[in-house]
Amino acid sequence: MSEDQYREFPCDICGADDPVELPHSRDYTNDQPVHICRRCGFVYVVRRRSAERIAEVWSTEIFGGTYTAAIPAVAARLTYVAEFLATTVGLDGKNVAEIGAGEGRFLGMAKTRYRASVFGIEPSAANSRLLSAAGIPHYTGTIEAYVESGDSRVGTFDLAVVLWTLENCQDCKAMLRGAHRLVKPGGAVAIATGSRILVPFKKPLHTYLSTIPADANAFRFSANTLRAALTVCGFAPAHINRFIDHDILCVIGTHADGRATPSWQGDNYLDVYSFFERWHVDTAMYFPDRIG
Ligand SMILES: [Zn+2]
Repeated sequence: MSEDQYREFPCDICGADDPVELPHSRDYTNDQPVHICRRCGFVYVVRRRSAERIAEVWSTEIFGGTYTAAIPAVAARLTYVAEFLATTVGLDGKNVAEIGAGEGRFLGMAKTRYRASVFGIEPSAANSRLLSAAGIPHYTGTIEAYVESGDSRVGTFDLAVVLWTLENCQDCKAMLRGAHRLVKPGGAVAIATGSRILVPFKKPLHTYLSTIPADANAFRFSANTLRAALTVCGFAPAHINRFIDHDILCVIGTHADGRATPSWQGDNYLDVYSFFERWHVDTAMYFPDRIG
């Protein structure tokens, strides 16, 4: 087991180090703070352990060996992402890598329904065995380790996908920079997340801010901050789904190929602060017993 040593992080998107605590977060997280960057409005967890320890927490403490993606809600959201890709940048016949391939549900679909060539990058040994059983070629390890591995496929993919994973890693910029090295110039990355904010409330706050270790869910994205994270990592945001009345926020960015980093826009942190205050009031109205 890795050591439980915490380090304090500045804002991942803009680098500022002057966050304000997200209102009421401690009521829902077993007293673990979540913060909002005052400069760009990004919602992030300041204190985090190592990437390896967070991966270990997910596989042992949170999933505990019982998680499976073989449920209708997961199948539905993966199908949605595949169709969104198919109707924007195209998925048919593409050379696709998934960062955090899990049990291979998405890649299996991409391979059979869209005739894609697929490759998984997956740190969990247990999931790697499932990928092998499903006949999906993969690398067992982190994206950071894979892009340094010397594998000849690095830099050759048409498309990298990061599905319900970016919000749960230790360093979202490191993961996106890894994605940038995976794809060829003109290629694309697709990020999908359920962590979307600054939208109508889709669920009570106690099922959004949970009591799992806060650093295992260190990031929460709005449409602006997800596009900003892509932009600062070398992608030009090209497509965004109709996220306002959908559970999924999905952004596709194209590899900017070293061109000057375009400007990006975050959120006003006071808007984010007010959003969570209103969400707390809404939750307290319907679920008064669930407030800590
Ligand atoms: Zn910031």
